[in-house]
Amino acid sequence: MSARIPPHRQSDQIIRRLEREIYDARSTVIRLMPADVQKVIDEFYACKTRTELGAWRRRLMRYIISRAEILPKHRYSGERAYCPLCREGPSSSYEEGFSIPLGLERHLDRATTGHGCSVMEVIWEFAHTSKSEQIEREERRQREAEEAEAKARRAVETLWRVDQGAPKLINELWFSEQARDEESLAVAEGRLAQIGFKLSVDGNIKSYMEETESYIVYADPRVQGRIEFKVYSKTKKRKKSVGADHRSFRLPDGWKNKLADKYKAGLEDVLSRL
Ligand SMILES: [Zn+2]
Repeated sequence: MSARIPPHRQSDQIIRRLEREIYDARSTVIRLMPADVQKVIDEFYACKTRTELGAWRRRLMRYIISRAEILPKHRYSGERAYCPLCREGPSSSYEEGFSIPLGLERHLDRATTGHGCSVMEVIWEFAHTSKSEQIEREERRQREAEEAEAKARRAVETLWRVDQGAPKLINELWFSEQARDEESLAVAEGRLAQIGFKLSVDGNIKSYMEETESYIVYADPRVQGRIEFKVYSKTKKRKKSVGADHRSFRLPDGWKNKLADKYKAGLEDVLSRL
């Protein structure tokens, strides 16, 4: 019979069979765990996101560490124990057990890279493989919802031209940055007026720019705590491969006096390096 199946279908079948066998082997390992550990392991079924899966893994690690049997203390200064899952200790021959909690934690944690506890690795791979499709689906759904929301907002909210890319929403920032509220934004726009920037409005797009024959500066007042200036040369083209196509500098909110002078000094410095 197998001679009639094309070779690529045969290898597909072999891969599927091996996947099933790996799944069965991993679930057997988990079924051999004590009931209380199994109960904590089973909590991964409820995880819907990568973050939740990570939190579950840390919860499981803490639980396993809490179950470690501490070795008699007389020979050691701190607490030590063998791994309750694989029964192993560190590779060095003059130490018994892992230090608690850090040594054991590292042993369990490194299981996700295949260099730590072999039993924890089986548990992690089982959970990760079982959940990866659902997590990817959920992440795609979240991404699409965010994109749809941003698209809807772009049609009605103020957009900011802060560089030579597409205009941005007020909170389209880097992860660590926080957008200003209305009051703080008004103060920042007041500071730009003090420096000499004029507001341009084009439909729902606002921008503060300074343009000369040799350069363009885009001011970005959206980020809490500072105004960012991006400077583009009109005469020299910076290669994309070398890094950004512009240079930037900033005016922190803490700077109160002689803003125009400080702006000028920042700009001159950047222009000398453009
Ligand atoms: Zn272990």
